[in-house]
Amino acid sequence: MRWKEQLLTLTPYQPGKSIESVKKQFQLEQIIKLASNENPFGCSNMVLSALQSNLLNMPIYPDGYASSMRDELAAFLQVEPEKLIFGNGSDNLIQIISRALLHPGASTVMATPTFSQYRHNAVIEGAVIKEVPLLNGEHDLHGMLDAMDEKTNVVWLCSPNNPTGTYIPETALLAFLEKVPSSCLVVLDEAYYEYVVADDYYDAISLTSKYPNLIVLRTFSKIYGLASLRVGYGVANPAIIKALEPGREPFNVNSFGQAAALAAIEDQEFVEECKKKNRTGLQQYYDFCHQHGLEYFPSQTNFILIDFKIDGDTVFQYLLERGYIVRSGKALGFPTSVRITVGTTEQNEGLLRILDEFL
Ligand code: PMP
Repeated sequence: MRWKEQLLTLTPYQPGKSIESVKKQFQLEQIIKLASNENPFGCSNMVLSALQSNLLNMPIYPDGYASSMRDELAAFLQVEPEKLIFGNGSDNLIQIISRALLHPGASTVMATPTFSQYRHNAVIEGAVIKEVPLLNGEHDLHGMLDAMDEKTNVVWLCSPNNPTGTYIPETALLAFLEKVPSSCLVVLDEAYYEYVVADDYYDAISLTSKYPNLIVLRTFSKIYGLASLRVGYGVANPAIIKALEPGREPFNVNSFGQAAALAAIEDQEFVEECKKKNRTGLQQYYDFCHQHGLEYFPSQTNFILIDFKIDGDTVFQYLLERGYIVRSGKALGFPTSVRITVGTTEQNEGLLRILDEFL
């Protein structure tokens, strides 16, 4: 067997410890997982009813074109339905884009640290990877432009960025888009878009009309609370969508995901409520950091990266043994930090109480 050499350099993606495994390992009854930036408030009740009424669709393949969800989302975003592509989570879209454009003769540019899947998929496709360090937690767009060469097919932007929670300012993004050659696809991953509260944040989707080489990725996994159903989407010029579609599995979004996403879009009140509660939760962490003189990046997301100035694994392990699963910054490119998903008020209080004893 001759495997692609680069596959042998990769370890499988490890999204963090599961609740069950931690329960067993430490003989704990209750585990709070604040590690994967899910919505601690669950999902809209409208989603639950939609799922119930769709249960009997189990034996039937889903609508491969996701027509109803497509029309609903297109109307909500005010774009033509042909500008949308759906993925089994936005992870799947990152994979589809990589498969379509990256190969050993191509190069790709991304920030570091950023979301791991851009690099992971680029390695699988054998592309040359150019990683440009963040500057004070933010994308160095000048550096990223400089890193591009004539072989650069894809550049990955993450705004707000995982794991820092910081966002790319509009003027910087526009200047960047003006300079990137039209032969290079710009992927703007906005998985946490709905959590953003910055007044000067922009409508990136409307930019896809002006920049035909821009694709914006979003997901139903975060504020909409559908992480397990795996629904993500991309918005771009129809020519890009047409080129990506053949690489999409025919039934990549199951019928429950489609029905749930459709219902979720209709309940924007739930989204607004979660956004508000998330800000209150973030404030609990900010207050704690101020009290203890801890550094953090101000976040536009539902997670916070806190620098404890000691090995991130130590803080991670301390919390784990007491029933709280978070992410050590060690695996995320910030070795002395820990990334914590904002939970409910009680969950945040519980975790911060334990951290208080630790410090
Ligand atoms: N992009 C970013 C920045 C993320 O943080 C995540 C989830 N951790 C994803 C994409 C993937 O999300 P999903 O596949 O659930 O849509």
